[in-house]
Amino acid sequence: MDPHRVIIFDTTLRDGEQSPGISLNSFEKLEIAEQLARLGVDVIEAGFPISSPGDFEGVEKIARSVSGVTVCALARAIENDVRTAWDAIKEAERPRIHTFISTSDIHLKHQLRKSREEVLETARRMVALAVSLCDDVEFSAMDATRSDPDYLAAVLQAAIDEGACTINIPDTVGYAIPSEFGDFVREQFKKVPGLKDVAVSVHCHNDLGLAVANSLAAVENGASQVECAINGLGERAGNASLEEIVMILETRKRTLGRATGVKTVEIARTSRLVSQLTGYDVQPNKAIVGKNAFAHESGIHQDGVLKERTTYEIMNAASVGRGQSDLVLGKHSGRHALKAAMEELGYNLSEEDLNQAFVHFKKVADKKKQITAVDLEHLVSEEIRELTDIYELKSYEVSSSSEFVPTCQVIIEKEGEKLLGKSFSGGSMESIFKAIDDAVGTKGKLKDYQVRSVTEGKDSLGEVRVVVEVQGKAYAGTALSIDVVEASAKAYVRALNNAYRAGAVT
Ligand SMILES: [Zn+2]
Repeated sequence: MDPHRVIIFDTTLRDGEQSPGISLNSFEKLEIAEQLARLGVDVIEAGFPISSPGDFEGVEKIARSVSGVTVCALARAIENDVRTAWDAIKEAERPRIHTFISTSDIHLKHQLRKSREEVLETARRMVALAVSLCDDVEFSAMDATRSDPDYLAAVLQAAIDEGACTINIPDTVGYAIPSEFGDFVREQFKKVPGLKDVAVSVHCHNDLGLAVANSLAAVENGASQVECAINGLGERAGNASLEEIVMILETRKRTLGRATGVKTVEIARTSRLVSQLTGYDVQPNKAIVGKNAFAHESGIHQDGVLKERTTYEIMNAASVGRGQSDLVLGKHSGRHALKAAMEELGYNLSEEDLNQAFVHFKKVADKKKQITAVDLEHLVSEEIRELTDIYELKSYEVSSSSEFVPTCQVIIEKEGEKLLGKSFSGGSMESIFKAIDDAVGTKGKLKDYQVRSVTEGKDSLGEVRVVVEVQGKAYAGTALSIDVVEASAKAYVRALNNAYRAGAVT
């Protein structure tokens, strides 16, 4: 590979998915993975297959259908983990097994309760096993930054001897600082002769807000792969943010002399999709993808930017996909225009899918004057999600006023069967949710309810995300509609679909 190239390893679906409150079903994982492939990441870490049957299924689905990218599965250095990881990814176009074990004394003593020799031997055996199954094997020394550098070097060399072709040096606990971490990586290159023949990766956590800075320091000291996540998601304070790493390398390429294969114009869309499905909002002042990242508020700045953009802007908003797109459709747009717009978004629809999308599009276009690229991207997602629903909201009727208790009736369809639900109580949303419960025969507890508009304007599409607790476990559902009441009802039904898949609703 080109020595200037930095490999982008995305762990949104593995480390990111481990963030509290995020639980993506396998269809949602696939939707994100497809967008990551469009974004042009090199490796998608799709999950940790041994951790649950749901995770296994998600990884397997991605391995089977996402092409043009390496699909990686995580495994502890345990035989059953490694074999299960392989089972989940073996059908991928480019599979990778990523196995790991701790190398710090603090982890060896308190967590693994193993000696240094035992850990070295285990790493050796498990890398060998992984290599016997899969051509592409990555080895991680967990808690590397708090490990004895000489011992770490011995373990890394052993992993290389057994055939690992990527060696990851993680700052698992987010303790490192950039100058020190850069030195640490450079030292390992000196201590481990084999490192120059493999890809050297880093995986930094953001506990001190240094994940991106530490990753960059490692790149400047020879690392060729960065593990990162969209919107900086990940355990605790998260991982290095993918969009920041990529845009640093892009914006400062003359100084740094490194490049990635990421199509930066897909960044904003990927960020929106991940935020929508995980329920993790992006802070407004977040670099690159925050709502205000390109907004100039002070008069002096605005004046400067109007005269010459580069006076206060180091990046062009359009380069990360945030510029005004020319794509605007309306009620009079035909099938061809829709097809062309969909292709621009990266979807190649069959004739049948196009017909179905067109029907949906017309319904929205009747109510909403202008349909932009962002609207369309959301509508497509909604359509994709509907295909996998078991319960589907067929119709609802709610009557509410300031004087009377609201009443509601819904019809839910489940595998061709129509289920009727009624309620008479509380506020109008409560009334709808209760009617849905009545139809499905469950009792959900609403834990979270968020509404946001997709674009500006009174006729904006409304997006609703709910978290519903069923039998003590939380399930999320996101849905979109021109009508917020309908979006809420659909989101609730979608959460119940997730509960159904987990066996909590029958
Ligand atoms: Zn991590």
